[in-house]
Amino acid sequence: MNLPLSFEFFPPKTPEGAEKLRMARQALYAHKPEFCSVTFGAGGSTQDGTFGTVGEILAEGVPAACHFSCVGATKATVRQQLTTLQIMGVKRLVALRGDLPSGYGAGGEFHYASDLVAFIRAETGDAFRIEVAAYPEVHPQARSADADLKAFVQKVKAGADSAITQYFFNADAYYRFVDDVQALGVDVPIVPGIMPIISSTQLMRFSDACGAEIPRWIRLRLQGFGDDTASIKSFGLDVITGLCEQLYAAGVPGIHFYTMNQAAATTEIIGRLQRT
Ligand code: FAD
Repeated sequence: MNLPLSFEFFPPKTPEGAEKLRMARQALYAHKPEFCSVTFGAGGSTQDGTFGTVGEILAEGVPAACHFSCVGATKATVRQQLTTLQIMGVKRLVALRGDLPSGYGAGGEFHYASDLVAFIRAETGDAFRIEVAAYPEVHPQARSADADLKAFVQKVKAGADSAITQYFFNADAYYRFVDDVQALGVDVPIVPGIMPIISSTQLMRFSDACGAEIPRWIRLRLQGFGDDTASIKSFGLDVITGLCEQLYAAGVPGIHFYTMNQAAATTEIIGRLQRT
């Protein structure tokens, strides 16, 4: 398999978490990622941790993408953070609207990710390669599937270079999304985001929140395993490797792994793909 790979991490909260993440990164670097990305908490919750982890990845000699969300932010703050990222040597951003943690009021000077993309381009020209989020199974707050598709096209037209999808298990939803976007005249690479199945409860919680559909047969099989984590992991590896094989055969432009700061499952999936 010769496909660009990227790995996503979240900023660790403790020194132990940071050390575990360093070890996970070293294991994953063996697969020569095109870049590693670090998530960003809206409303200021994890921004220092994000910038710190991005700095560590750059210092390890690996290209880093900084996720950057704009909800609740002012133009002055965003301008300042973009300058910091440029000084750090960051060349790639994942530009997002984000979600405010509960308890934060609305406000801020950006409404949608497309506003942020346009602002980054106006302020910094081509200093950054800009990725945006794509939702093959439709963003949960979208007015309609059609409105969501148009919102995606608007983000690209505002200046995004490529996109990473929310994770999905239905490859057909991804193919359809790519076809629909192309029919609207947009031809940027749309890289599938892949979530290894590590824990059944975690997957159910995330999927309910982000609108990724777990097919009935997968949900029922996972429920049937109960607390048997070995069976969950083994089943998850089969399902996700199969999904990646299908996507690879269909000619996807790359694969982005939501690693959950763990190397084992992602490494095993890549190893299996390389053996096929
Ligand atoms: P947008 O593209 O702005 O879309 C948000 C909603 O608004 C959609 O329903 C869309 O249909 C609608 N919309 C957009 N434009 C318009 C318009 N002009 N008029 C009407 N409706 C419109 N979250 C984090 O907090 N931190 C992260 O690091 C992070 N990383 C992510 C990485 C990836 C690859 C993905 C797929 C998601 C990530 N998220 C992250 C989650 C993301 O922030 C949420 O899904 C958020 O709710 C939407 O962000 P967005 O950038 O997709 O928003």
